[in-house]
Amino acid sequence: MSAQPTVRVIGKVCDAYTTRQANLKAGNLGRKGSPRRQRATSTPISFRLDAAQPFDDRCLSWQMDARTVSIWTVSGRMKNLDFTTSPEQLKLLTEYRQGESDLLCQDGQWFLASTCEVPERVENPDPAGWVGVDLGIVEIATTSTGDRFAGRHLNRQRRQQSELRAKLQAKNTKSAKRVLKRLRRREARRARDVNHRISKRIVERAERTDHGIVLEDLRGIRGRVRQAKQQRSMLHAWGFAQLRDFIAYKARRVGVPVLVVDPAYTSQTCSECDHTSRRNRPTRNRFVCRSCGVVLHADVNAARNLAHRGGVAWAAGRRSTAPAPTR
Ligand SMILES: [Zn+2]
Repeated sequence: MSAQPTVRVIGKVCDAYTTRQANLKAGNLGRKGSPRRQRATSTPISFRLDAAQPFDDRCLSWQMDARTVSIWTVSGRMKNLDFTTSPEQLKLLTEYRQGESDLLCQDGQWFLASTCEVPERVENPDPAGWVGVDLGIVEIATTSTGDRFAGRHLNRQRRQQSELRAKLQAKNTKSAKRVLKRLRRREARRARDVNHRISKRIVERAERTDHGIVLEDLRGIRGRVRQAKQQRSMLHAWGFAQLRDFIAYKARRVGVPVLVVDPAYTSQTCSECDHTSRRNRPTRNRFVCRSCGVVLHADVNAARNLAHRGGVAWAAGRRSTAPAPTR
């Protein structure tokens, strides 16, 4: 190998051992003398053939206009390899790419994952109002301004997939396991894509109207929803945390403040007069206030309550409370 890839390989091996050492120290691999720890330390670390491999600018060059890359391989340099990405990502890549990219192979497809350091705009210190975002199963997200993002067809796909999965799991063969893995990844990609689209729409709208965004604290969501067992498993599977993270980081980029508030009773409280009663909710979708008589879609009512709470919290503290994005 030439010098640069050699440096990379050494770096990768060192990183792996450093990580293992950190895991041992943190107790992630069991107590001293435990079989698991023994297993982890008695064998050298091995690397899968298709494991992610880091490339820097000396082993990988990008031709943005032609949408090709030239990449070093053990059998020489491969030139003019086409790559594809969305127009927005191409723009990010061109303007903000930082040094290294990881090359990975998943289900027979090759991916290049690049780090982009995108500058954040200064947070809007004085938003004109707040957009509350209610999260749920039937509608993935509903905003206080009435935007609804349905999950119906996704939920149907999930159900079909889970039936198929059950069949494959029963088979328990090597090839069945491989197919299962591929299905899981495909589903995760699909959910991720949906979360990207929803978060993008919500943030764009908040930015355009000079509003901040209010999200519910997710710690409560699983306990709060009382539904059939099947729906509960969907709630676990659906990436609400991911959606919240996406909204938070897209908002930071454009200076939209994001607040996280306690969602307790948002579904039973009237967003017009504050009257709180379980009887305000005759059906899943309808909210009818027993006190002032207002009729609203139940999710919109909940989202409006979140927006109110956000306004109060901002007036008290005036700063974003969304957790910092994870790298
Ligand atoms: Zn009311």
